[in-house]
Amino acid sequence: VNLPFALWSPLLPELPEVESVRHSLLPHLIGRQVARVIIGRTDIVTPPAAESHLPAHMLQGQVLQRLDRIGKQLLLHAASGQAIGIHLGMTGQCTVLRPGEQPERSDHIHMRWQLVDPARPAESSAELLFRDPRRFGELRWFACPEAVATFAARLGPDALAITGQDLFERAHSSRRAIKAVLLDQAVLAGVGNIYADEALHASHIRPRRAATRVTRAEYESLAAAIRAVLTSAVTAGGSTLRDYLDADGNRGSFAAAHRVYGRGGQPCLTCSATLKQCQVAQRTTVFCTNCQR
Ligand SMILES: [Zn+2]
Repeated sequence: VNLPFALWSPLLPELPEVESVRHSLLPHLIGRQVARVIIGRTDIVTPPAAESHLPAHMLQGQVLQRLDRIGKQLLLHAASGQAIGIHLGMTGQCTVLRPGEQPERSDHIHMRWQLVDPARPAESSAELLFRDPRRFGELRWFACPEAVATFAARLGPDALAITGQDLFERAHSSRRAIKAVLLDQAVLAGVGNIYADEALHASHIRPRRAATRVTRAEYESLAAAIRAVLTSAVTAGGSTLRDYLDADGNRGSFAAAHRVYGRGGQPCLTCSATLKQCQVAQRTTVFCTNCQR
């Protein structure tokens, strides 16, 4: 089988993949009560807690109220104000099992939440699994809304809603390469390697150009390009990554739409010049020397 490069590259799921996981989980979680938490590993939880406290910290007994996304992380909020952060990392998966279903793979499942409808507490409604074979992901415990707010304050505004003005104000004083600035989650939350390359190509800016040398007008078109590439990727269910599956086990379909990412040495889809590949911020970077200045 001749698969595109993106299918087999080990990559972090980016904002669209996480957003797509969020959408697929929502109908199974919201309004449900956590009847029981089954803990496989304790060392994937930050901050560490005594093992006897972990089930309570993992929302045992609580009613799930909201599933938010902040940058590339999911935040599962209980009605009590306590919350769990879920960072999928490179290989983490959140899967939902309906009653009677068995997981496709039962190894490396580190946490299971058995859920019930509070109106019918005797019967299981679904089970949420967190599986992570290589343990690059993480679960984070938040004891109160203030702890969530402190965590969120370390991240920049969400990339899906970034404005040109915001991006200009947060980025333009940096002497770093514009791509490195886009990848900095404290500047902007949710842009990773794929969508940084795609947005820079769409807005005709070279990834290595210093952020100080990007004009005000270019920040407008860059912000618009970031919103556009992320929005179309969310619609397509995220890029197709090797270890990435949404909660229903579906693979994303956006990889076919990449115009530069993973295409170094191939012709630019805009002008047919050969795309260049280099390293920026220790990440493989692809750009067009003709379209991008
Ligand atoms: Zn080009």
